[in-house]
Amino acid sequence: MRSLEELKHQLQNPKSIVILPHTKPDADALGSSLALMSLMKKMGHKVNIISPTDYPAFLNWIHGQDEVIQYTEAKAAEIKTLISESDIIFALDFCALKRVDKLEAMVRESKAEKVLIDHHIGKEDFADYELWSSKASSTAELIYDFIHLMDLSDKMGKHEAEAIYAGIMTDTGSFRFPATSRKVHLIIADLMEYDIDHAKIHRLVYDNNRLKKLQLLGYALSQKLKFLPEYNAAYISLSEKDLEEFNYRTGDSEGLVNYALSLKGVVFAALITEKDDGVKCSFRSVGEFNVNEYASKHFNGGGHKNAAGGRIEGSLESALSKFENSLKEYKEELVKQSELENTLC
Ligand code: 5GP
Ligand code: MN
Repeated sequence: MRSLEELKHQLQNPKSIVILPHTKPDADALGSSLALMSLMKKMGHKVNIISPTDYPAFLNWIHGQDEVIQYTEAKAAEIKTLISESDIIFALDFCALKRVDKLEAMVRESKAEKVLIDHHIGKEDFADYELWSSKASSTAELIYDFIHLMDLSDKMGKHEAEAIYAGIMTDTGSFRFPATSRKVHLIIADLMEYDIDHAKIHRLVYDNNRLKKLQLLGYALSQKLKFLPEYNAAYISLSEKDLEEFNYRTGDSEGLVNYALSLKGVVFAALITEKDDGVKCSFRSVGEFNVNEYASKHFNGGGHKNAAGGRIEGSLESALSKFENSLKEYKEELVKQSELENTLC
């Protein structure tokens, strides 16, 4: 591992930089990438953000997003050249290269120096430089730190502040998750110095729903939410047919799993969705129940202690029975956690 001081030195000369967010980037991955791109450009570097997939339309307001190159088969050759000819690759908001899907092999083959900035558990050892902390609320918080470590705060402007704000706001669940530290609030106070419209950013992300998305929410809550009180757990399942019926777009199911978690008594919730390439799972928990470990053990995934995801092959039905059966193993732990939730200790 090399020091960030050395990276700072490297960045004194113009470089060709590629920034990678994870597949299906969220506001944290995309906001972090766009803030970093903007600052690196101001330093005189050539910069491209390559997203492994598309991302939700409610992120279309973040400055610079129209420059993001989205991976498609048709663009594969051009993207491969960009990755192999770059000097530096930034990996943002993920810590294992499998999270960039089709780009994984290209990154592994590239001679570029790799910089990891991330806050997920389960870090793979692929980067030359790292700014990693599983205690950080978000990658955007670490981007803020990075800007200061690289002495770039004089280059910060409103657009970078907005992008960083979006990442911190969404990954902290609008400043309510445990990782919302004193430091997070101080960073936010500083971002507000750039005259950002924080209330509007919240509306652009959360109050920008298509009718079909809200109707999918209604359907999921009324028809597809299963409460398992004996395990203090609940889950929502969606089939490919359900998604088709509601004209599903990327991002339409974001936040759904939190409704299952908000049920009184529930400390572990899942959203299990049938996709064309397998079954995608989102897990959320409160307190000590560790969904990162759970997702890694049962669903080939990972993430954080209280928010994780995974993917499994096979039918939706088999994923659902796997989920329900797995709960037996955790019954005692889940009941105990739920009892703890009744009081403030
Ligand atoms: P979500 O449920 O919102 O898709 O993801 C929750 C958290 O888990 C996010 O921090 C996300 O980056 C991570 N995550 C989601 N899916 C996967 C996965 O398949 N593997 C790993 N390692 N992490 C995931
Ligand atoms: Mn994140």
